[in-house]
Amino acid sequence: MKKQQFHVGQEDLLQACNEFIASAFGGQDFTGKDKMKAELICEEILISLKENSGDNEELSVRVKQGFSGRVIEFEAAGREIEELQGGNIDTAIKLADEPEERSIRAMVLKAYGDSLRYVHKDGVNRVMLQLKKGGGSTVFITLAALGAAILAGLLFRQFMPAAVNDALCGYLFKPFKTMFINALKIVVGPVVFFSIVTCISQFTNLSELGKIGLKVMGLYICTTIMAVLIGLGLFSAINPGEWGMALGGTMESTEVSVNTEADTSILSTIVNIVPGNLLKPFVESDTLQIIFLAVLLGAAVGMIGRYTKILQDLFEACNELFLTVTTLISKLIPLAVFASVFLMMIQTGTDSLLAMISMALTDVLSLACMIAVYGILILLLTGLNPIKFYQKTGPGMITSFSLSSSNAAMPTNMQICTDRLGISPKICGFSIPLGATINMDGTSIHLAVAALFLAKVYAVPVPQSAMLSIVITILMLSIGTPGVPGASLVCLSVLLNQIGVPIEAIGLIMGVDSLLDMCRTVSNTTGDMAVTTIVAKSEGLMDLDMYNS
Ligand code: ASP
Repeated sequence: MKKQQFHVGQEDLLQACNEFIASAFGGQDFTGKDKMKAELICEEILISLKENSGDNEELSVRVKQGFSGRVIEFEAAGREIEELQGGNIDTAIKLADEPEERSIRAMVLKAYGDSLRYVHKDGVNRVMLQLKKGGGSTVFITLAALGAAILAGLLFRQFMPAAVNDALCGYLFKPFKTMFINALKIVVGPVVFFSIVTCISQFTNLSELGKIGLKVMGLYICTTIMAVLIGLGLFSAINPGEWGMALGGTMESTEVSVNTEADTSILSTIVNIVPGNLLKPFVESDTLQIIFLAVLLGAAVGMIGRYTKILQDLFEACNELFLTVTTLISKLIPLAVFASVFLMMIQTGTDSLLAMISMALTDVLSLACMIAVYGILILLLTGLNPIKFYQKTGPGMITSFSLSSSNAAMPTNMQICTDRLGISPKICGFSIPLGATINMDGTSIHLAVAALFLAKVYAVPVPQSAMLSIVITILMLSIGTPGVPGASLVCLSVLLNQIGVPIEAIGLIMGVDSLLDMCRTVSNTTGDMAVTTIVAKSEGLMDLDMYNS
């Protein structure tokens, strides 16, 4: 263990701590993405400790070896640190003039919530940061599981007797896959419900948003709708479900129960949004009803006045709880990927592989189109040169890509807005944190493409009349999606449920999800910066020389 004492008030605190931590790591363990994450989060922790302690207090930093990686412990006497308890959009709105304020920090810290432990005891703040060696390697492990499953599946299909494959699938992989999917089903409804309630209840007073806020919100909603339409449009043009296979007959079609006689007319969709009682939406996993309840309760919590704070805290706590359960379940994703891809390979051979690749390509192409749309919007609505926009937001795109999290990329994006695009902190201090929470264009594209693809693969008809409810659901789901890695997986299950595709279907695309997550996060955050640029220009709150420089 290595330990060093600092003074909270010392001028070069951030730099001195970073140097100590880097030397304690010995420079070998953490490189690239891990190092970037460690530095980012250490900085946020140090600023929080500094703000809540007196300048003369001692700060001790310890670096030690834990079971699964390094642990950094920070300890200093001081007041309880509010932002380590969770983020708040409302604070972000109020602190629009101070971009580096607590709310943004809270959201970044929240994005790394599962690696942080915080205790405030006897007037001392203690923060522990667990850095897994290669902590960002989930993508790598999942891809390795995908590769191994493809290879093993193809070899077993080719060389093993059918009886062995049946036994392996029936007694090992299928039961495991079912258990994993069932565990996911437990959290799906609550995660969507609590994240939407938590998000909406932050807006205690819509008029507080003002003209700029409404413009930002309006544009966020418009770009999300455009994203869904691009996803749906490119899906029907490319038709990825047709490529390489017609799995409808082979993919456990017995599990699919589609009520083709169900009334999917627009009128009945609208009427059915309102549930007959409080529990029905959850018992029947009715997505639109869950979303309706969440919006209703969220709005009411914001208005209630006296109990608003208690209820906000309660819903926030439940939101954290279910997100933590989801994080626990997602630890099994590499195994689940192996099980479902192996099953797929045994059942359908290379056909399913081609289908998965075709879906991934459609997804990536739609995301690229969406990023092009931002440039077109900037050109049409502001007259600014879109090439400059892409040049200047490049580092933000790389950060979002490598961190797969809109929340974690927020500080970089804020800095890009103020220091490179020349946008006043008055706008981006509010619009970037808000966007990281509610504006998920890339996620919306992915939900549209993946849901239609899986419906096709499972031969579930999706009538034209169901499109409106799909667009509304995706819009609401994208608002409820937290800006953390892999969040779409849960939302996709909700959408699948709504269109009558068995949730098991996500096994088909889980293998490529981590890679697609990186790409869709780029669209999510670039969309935030594009809308911020458009609003800033229209309000005259932009340094055009800096933008064009
Ligand atoms: N990882 C995405 C983000 O943080 C959310 C998602 O899973 O789509 O923006």
